[in-house]
Amino acid sequence: MAEAENFIQAFIDEDLAAGRVTSVQTRFPPEPNGYLHIGHAKSMYVNFGTALKYGGKCNLFFDDTNPSKEKTEFVDAIRRDIEWLGYHWEREVYASDFFDTIYAYAEKLIEMGKAFVCDLSADEIRETRGTLTEPGTESPYRGRTPEENLRLFREMRAGKYADGEKCLRAKIDMASPNINLRDPVIYRILRATHHRTGDKWCIYPMYDYAHPICDYLQGVTHSLCTLEFEDHRPLYDWVGLTLGFSPKPRQIEFARLNVTNLVMSKRYLKKLVEEGTVHGWDDPRMPTLAGLRARGIPAEAVKDFCARVGVAKAQSEVEIGYFEAVVRDYLNAHAPRAMAVLEPLKLTITNYEGEEDATFEVNQLDPAAGTRTVKFGKTLWIERSDFSLDPPPKYHRLKLGGYARLKSAYIVRADEAVTDEKGEVVEVKCTYFPESRSGADTSGIKAKGVLHWVNAETGVDAVLRRYDHLLRDADYAGQDFSERINKESEHIFAAKAEPYLAENEGSYQLMRTGYFRAFREGGKLILSEIVSLKDNFNK
Ligand code: ATP
Ligand code: MG
Repeated sequence: MAEAENFIQAFIDEDLAAGRVTSVQTRFPPEPNGYLHIGHAKSMYVNFGTALKYGGKCNLFFDDTNPSKEKTEFVDAIRRDIEWLGYHWEREVYASDFFDTIYAYAEKLIEMGKAFVCDLSADEIRETRGTLTEPGTESPYRGRTPEENLRLFREMRAGKYADGEKCLRAKIDMASPNINLRDPVIYRILRATHHRTGDKWCIYPMYDYAHPICDYLQGVTHSLCTLEFEDHRPLYDWVGLTLGFSPKPRQIEFARLNVTNLVMSKRYLKKLVEEGTVHGWDDPRMPTLAGLRARGIPAEAVKDFCARVGVAKAQSEVEIGYFEAVVRDYLNAHAPRAMAVLEPLKLTITNYEGEEDATFEVNQLDPAAGTRTVKFGKTLWIERSDFSLDPPPKYHRLKLGGYARLKSAYIVRADEAVTDEKGEVVEVKCTYFPESRSGADTSGIKAKGVLHWVNAETGVDAVLRRYDHLLRDADYAGQDFSERINKESEHIFAAKAEPYLAENEGSYQLMRTGYFRAFREGGKLILSEIVSLKDNFNK
């Protein structure tokens, strides 16, 4: 067997070696109450990845025990996002598929004297639970006989009681140092229409009780979850041992993925959507998988990032710059190069007539990608920031009397700046040097700057969108998410692009500008930023 790559695999190796299990089965367990985010990509990497490593299986398990928040819209979105990442689930199962069996197990616990119907309110239960240092108080209903409990539980199911009037609690130990074992509630009365079982049930099992049963019924051998469930493991084990599950699934916890400048709580993401701070769950600034996809982040880069971050037991926070560096590395190797101008300024070459081909490499890192040709001509668009009337020292772009090379074409000299009534430069008039052609330069002229450009005759209008992080740095405005939200994180430019981009949707490196996704929206060419060009992450 290949060596264990992380502590989860080391545990599994132990279980296999000891004969506790003979194969590996996991499950990815989203609650369909929102869209998946990049944190879930890590959970998938762990669950699907572990099954893959052992030639085992991974189910898609919808944890739908909380009917008031769950929707079919979310189920569909979750499936789409998993498929996008390229994972394949063995079976699609729902907690609600097992409601009958989960109920039957509850009756079994009652018959065993291991569960009782309690009439305390939710508040009273909380108040009698005790604290970390003090034990809880036993419920006055704890001594009910199994017969009475069974009758009451069946009446709960039949709808005889109001929501919250009674509940079913496991009878464990009110003095346990682990608060989760202090007679936890395992069923509550809740009149809510379930997205799959409709109004069939007015009682619903609690997550901590239902989860081990669902794992067992699916044949899960290793239930991989995040660290906040560590304290719940004794209850997970109690359910399995009390009900005699064999082989009993083993819960193993790992650290959640946290990334700086990314909100990863569904509650906050939902708020951003509902308050209109973003355009939707799939806004390119959102850390949802739908958002990353809309942004143009390749699925491979998301998986690569999860693999590089790895699986650990210790909580940590990964720099957003690291994620961006992984995305940039991928796009640098795969994205074709193209030209677009963010803030166009007209450049006219007074001594040039006609047009000719300018050829550049599609991707310098990938010789097999070949070359592509654009039309060079007399009037071009260049970047407004590539010309200065008042240049700082060592300015290598265009200035009056200065030289610069136009990418894959000629060296030009700026002779005159045409300004409008406000004094703003609206056009730069230049001279070109025929002997300075790229690849065959015999001119002897030195030009340090190389400028990208778009032919003004053939260039098309584009709406270019650039993004800042949706969440400002932690030290910007304290720790509170709502104060850190950057409402002005989308910037729109009226850009000019080579016509090729309008006809070929895809992800590009726009030379000297960044990585962008090109697509059409309502007939317009949109250039939407994926990640900046510069790597400011310190590897
Ligand atoms: P949120 O807090 O965003 O609502 P959740 O934990 O409630 O997330 P679930 O739908 O219950 O979301 O999660 C499905 C699985 O994904 C769970 O096993 C959960 O532990 C895991 N998961 C959620 N967020 C992360 C994360 N940031 N890193 C790793 N795993 C995660
Ligand atoms: Mg949850």
